Amino acid sequence: MFSNKDISRFANLETPFYYYDLNLLQNTLNACANAAKLYNFHVHYALKANFNPAVLKKVKAIGFGADCVSGGEVNRAIETGFNPKQVVFAGVGKSDKEINLALDQDIFCFNVESVQELEVINELAGKKGKIAKIAIRINPNVDAHTHHNITTGLDENKFGVNSWDLPKCVETLKVSEHLEFLGIHFHIGSQITNLDVYKNLCVRVNEFAIWFEERGFNVKILNVGGGLGIDYHNPEQQIPDFDAYFKIFSEFLEVKAGQEVHFELGRALVGQCASLISRVLYIKNGKKKNFVVLDAGMTELMRPALYQAYHKIENLSRGNQTTLKYDIVGPICESTDCFGKEVEQPESFRGDLYAIRSAGAYGEVMASKYNLRDEIRSVYSEEA
Ligand SMILES: *Cc1c(COP(=O)(O)O)cnc(C)c1O
Repeated sequence: MFSNKDISRFANLETPFYYYDLNLLQNTLNACANAAKLYNFHVHYALKANFNPAVLKKVKAIGFGADCVSGGEVNRAIETGFNPKQVVFAGVGKSDKEINLALDQDIFCFNVESVQELEVINELAGKKGKIAKIAIRINPNVDAHTHHNITTGLDENKFGVNSWDLPKCVETLKVSEHLEFLGIHFHIGSQITNLDVYKNLCVRVNEFAIWFEERGFNVKILNVGGGLGIDYHNPEQQIPDFDAYFKIFSEFLEVKAGQEVHFELGRALVGQCASLISRVLYIKNGKKKNFVVLDAGMTELMRPALYQAYHKIENLSRGNQTTLKYDIVGPICESTDCFGKEVEQPESFRGDLYAIRSAGAYGEVMASKYNLRDEIRSVYSEEA
């Protein structure tokens, strides 16, 4: 995947850094846009997966909307040039300040996650003499069959309105003069690789759409969220199968005339386009274990420490000579600061370059200052 030219370029750079393959990003965006176009589906990019300016610029240029989960992301999307009419705003804990900001920007839709939030948005919109457009984020109790820490659509999760609270939502909507109901929203989890999960989601979406229609609401928008996974074990399998993904929704969703289907993809669009590039600081050979100590740690890529996520790790400086088993660790003062345990690697030496692959989603955006670390830098395959 990395050419010799890439590797000699890295050799002259200070590590660690995120390396972005912008051609791959472009190809991935094109594949998604083309597949969505077949069915007239609308795609919003979930900014929280990666809000690197070079990434956002490309996503914006392809014409996708923005899916935001904070006031900061709403601002960033609009600063980047996303059309406010294509900005949606989800989140269980929108503050008054964030709601006001989104009202001032006249965003397309608030994805509302509780009855109380409906009341607050109605009140704040009223004070501004505005009508807020909203969709109800419903918790459909569909198992995403993914890691429990990134499951969001089960009864025990904090996200969305549970089905038993929907009658209260309807009552509130009926008396809220400053709310305009657009439709229903779902997002059941992330890194979903079993596409059957989406069939189950479609069945539930159809049921809830009918439920609202029966109560006199016009459901214009069916927003089914995101969550499509990538293959972390095969970073070379770079572009997710968007055709297969969208096809499921086209087959299993009952879309009525005038209804729009919206998606919010994050990881699938950006996950494979970046690697974290790091250098070996030290090799420690223990009796039971060998350690490769890198100059990157959980402060640069938190996913392994946060949810035991797997990332493929490659030594870029050695061929496939003798392999040894290493624990690949970072310099941070935490035992969970480990990128992989018992990983087979060529015998490694101080100064070797390592790549931690598939780090484009939930990587750079989660970087922290813990241990007063330097800000992580980015390097691009072309001028950004
Ligand atoms: C995080 C998030 C997404 C994107 O999830 P991916 O797994 O990255 O596709 C979409 N919608 C909402 C509401 C989210 O919170």
